[in-house]
Amino acid sequence: DAPVLRKPDWIRVKAPVSQGFKETREIVRSKGLVTVCEEAACPNIGECWEKKHATMMIMGDTCTRACAFCNIRTGMPAALDEKEPENVALAVEEMGLNHVVITSVDRDDLADGGAEHFERVIRAIRARAPGTTIEILTPDFLRKPGAAERVIDAQPDVFNHNLETVPRLYRAVRPGSRYFHSLRLLEKVKERDPQQFTKSGIMVGLGESRDEVMQVMDDMRSAGIDFITIGQYLQPTRKHAAVDRFVTPQEFKSYESIARAKGFLMVSATPLTRSSYHADADFAKLRAA
Ligand code: SF4
Ligand code: SF4
Repeated sequence: DAPVLRKPDWIRVKAPVSQGFKETREIVRSKGLVTVCEEAACPNIGECWEKKHATMMIMGDTCTRACAFCNIRTGMPAALDEKEPENVALAVEEMGLNHVVITSVDRDDLADGGAEHFERVIRAIRARAPGTTIEILTPDFLRKPGAAERVIDAQPDVFNHNLETVPRLYRAVRPGSRYFHSLRLLEKVKERDPQQFTKSGIMVGLGESRDEVMQVMDDMRSAGIDFITIGQYLQPTRKHAAVDRFVTPQEFKSYESIARAKGFLMVSATPLTRSSYHADADFAKLRAA
């Protein structure tokens, strides 16, 4: 085993103890929902749940892929829960969310990769909570012809799909996926519905170079991607990919200003940035601008 690097001071988080945290947990539990906040052991859970910002994970808690950085269990998932779209919509309504992030495990076992289910969830939220903006964080729909189109046509406000890392590290870190396929998915969203905002993100500290990060930013802009997130990779357990290094807050600042200069409309680049971190507040700001 490679030695586990000690976490630096800037990776510090608040313990989840607030009243808002408890209320969010109560709603999540009572609707039988799965959240990526818990499944991915996200370090921001105290802060996000206090503000009633949660990322719901649909289509179960078991993924058909096995990315080396990810804490979600791998295996053969259960059948889809027909009641899930309505339960998610009820939770969104009950929490009174301005903005919701919906993500899912990969469902390579389903003929459409879960596209229809995504569509049903989006429609159910629109019906119950028409004022809530919807951000989806989707699988790559690799080898699922027509699936992406179906999800795009359900018209989420933000279509997010993470590139996760630089292309050179895909084999080691994201073996079931293809960098250019993922990039192309986001480009397709813009072509088909220019009204939708597109978003993507990467983790750093996995062994990528600064030049490689620059190249990914350029690729993203060429594909018309509007929003970018860059955060520090943290190893969920010792079985997962090791942290290569902790990127300093100064380096994150530099990534942030470069990303802005390259034309991204929204940039989040800090050690604790996650794909859905502050997504609600950031999107509200953008709409007010
Ligand atoms: Fe959940 Fe995203 Fe917040 Fe993490 S950053 S706690 S995944 S909403
Ligand atoms: Fe985790 Fe997504 Fe990879 Fe599945 S596809 S293992 S949920 S990162």
